Amino acid sequence: MLKPLTQFYCDCCGEIIKEPSQGRLEWLFVFDPAKFDYVTKEHRIVHDGRYSPRPRMNCYNLYGNGKIADAPLTKFLDAQTGMAELLSFIDPGPKEEPKYTGPGVKDLREYLEFMRRLTIPHYEEARLYWPQAIRDNFFDGGSETFVYDPVNLKRLIGEYEGE
Ligand SMILES: [Zn+2]
Repeated sequence: MLKPLTQFYCDCCGEIIKEPSQGRLEWLFVFDPAKFDYVTKEHRIVHDGRYSPRPRMNCYNLYGNGKIADAPLTKFLDAQTGMAELLSFIDPGPKEEPKYTGPGVKDLREYLEFMRRLTIPHYEEARLYWPQAIRDNFFDGGSETFVYDPVNLKRLIGEYEGE
């Protein structure tokens, strides 16, 4: 079992990031004509290049139509600063952006998946078993947030791990 909110699966190579100091976050900036400003997309959790299990391959190489940005994983997991960092992607607030013109992320659902991985204990591992759990009606009868309750996520991992 992964150590919750400490270990993650790398979005580039698929291997485990063993500790926060070995990981980075990366995303792209793209211009959104509707907002008339830059928004972010393709938020990923990856190995810091120095810890990539693939020789000569940096795991944080996100190429696309936009500007690449990255930050240490530790900054976003920090109990003092993490939530402020994550929320500022959605809206930096009135000081930075006096007039609200919509979310600062291109795809809110994609961003919330990234955010859940970084903030909800056991979600990172449980999401692997999601399709199977849905097929098995594992979540049936629960409320909307039942599926994100860490107790249920841990139970889900126990059920499917090693199958
Ligand atoms: Zn990797």
